[in-house]
Amino acid sequence: EYGVAIIGAGHAGAQAAIALRKEGFTGTVALIGDEPDPPYERPPLSKDYLKDEKTFERMLIRRPDFWADKEIALLPATRIEAVDAAARRLAVADGPAIRYGKLIWAAGGRPRPLPCGSDVGLRGVHAVRTRTDVDRLKVELPAARRAVIIGGGYIGLEAAAAMAGRGLDITVIEAEDRLLARVAGADISAFYRRRHEAAGVRFLLGTRTSCLRAEDGAIAWVELERGETLPADIVIVGIGILPNVEPLLAAGAEGDNGAVVDASCRTSLPDIWAIGDCARHRNPYAGGAAVRLESVQNANDQANVAAADICGRPAKYEALPWFWSNQYEVRLQTAGLSAGHDEAVLRGDPETGRFSVCYLKAGQLIAADCIGRPADFVQAQKLIAAGVRPQRAALEDPETPLKSL
Ligand code: FAD
Repeated sequence: EYGVAIIGAGHAGAQAAIALRKEGFTGTVALIGDEPDPPYERPPLSKDYLKDEKTFERMLIRRPDFWADKEIALLPATRIEAVDAAARRLAVADGPAIRYGKLIWAAGGRPRPLPCGSDVGLRGVHAVRTRTDVDRLKVELPAARRAVIIGGGYIGLEAAAAMAGRGLDITVIEAEDRLLARVAGADISAFYRRRHEAAGVRFLLGTRTSCLRAEDGAIAWVELERGETLPADIVIVGIGILPNVEPLLAAGAEGDNGAVVDASCRTSLPDIWAIGDCARHRNPYAGGAAVRLESVQNANDQANVAAADICGRPAKYEALPWFWSNQYEVRLQTAGLSAGHDEAVLRGDPETGRFSVCYLKAGQLIAADCIGRPADFVQAQKLIAAGVRPQRAALEDPETPLKSL
């Protein structure tokens, strides 16, 4: 029996264990995950790890002996199949049940399968979610000539950038009529499109795939809804994730697209918290709407809130969302949530590779996407948190520091 059992040894789970010890929690803690590796950072998977510019050891969230030093029991390769909230017991695939006093569910998400069926597993078809996924991709890449990436979101674009320049023919298929449509404004979409095209990446926008066709057990063709077929020896499916919450919902927790949590990250079940990619919470920066955020910031900050709450220190999740993406030499930093904006103000010239887009809702600054302008990112965070209504003319002038607004 563990005082606290944490399910999922990703960003959120690892940080929850770290934060429990920082808060002075002296009971037993288990960090239980179904991956074989100790907790590691996911963002490099689609960036420098895919490019072979970072080793796996440098992606570990803590050095290997940290966990034993802090008396945190790591249980890798352990999959929780069911939760019995009344008996405080976890059913383990191929293993004895685990009892807990308090439970933190931090099981993240899994790649959303293509509507035509999940073909990840077929030779040549890949997801980019785990180290195992990317290691498999890196084995197949050297022999590949044509790569098709399904999904023009951050994961697909980062993978395209990491794979460009190695002589591969790369096509990105996106159902919307612009890239990053769900998360960024049109200026950002257009900028990335130009940058990728300069690197030789081809885009098929407003295009859906209908199915994947194999030959001799390996991917051969991607069929498009409009009838065309594209030859491919590598396919990367990057069309979002599904939250891993089925065992929790089966146990009676409220939720559908994620487990519903309150401001302290508590689920509707007693002594069970949910954090990270799998938690659906009301976010003050989304106008109080229920959202599921997929970012390292959200995973870490929710982990800290749950740990504090478990230790009896009142804590509320109200952190400002932020995010980043690296593609080629382009470093994007995002503050706030732009969804629902009614005005996007361009600050600086995209041609220079250094510009920001500020998003307003009813005159109030709610988010900023900053490319090569780290000062804008830092200052925008403060303005967004303060609920500032900046003058449009001043916002548009890249020479006027945001902090002066
Ligand atoms: P995860 O990190 O997914 O961890 C959940 C863990 O739980 C996984 O190991 C999973 O296998 C395990 N698990 C699931 N079900 C069970 C079960 N039943 N039993 C046991 N274990 C289970 N965010 C940024 O802010 N910036 C970036 O640049 C960025 N880049 C990214 C690039 C990639 C390729 C990916 C995949 C994500 C990126 N993200 C980025 C998002 C960020 O990594 C996630 O938001 C973060 O990992 C979420 O942490 P989590 O702990 O909630 O989930």
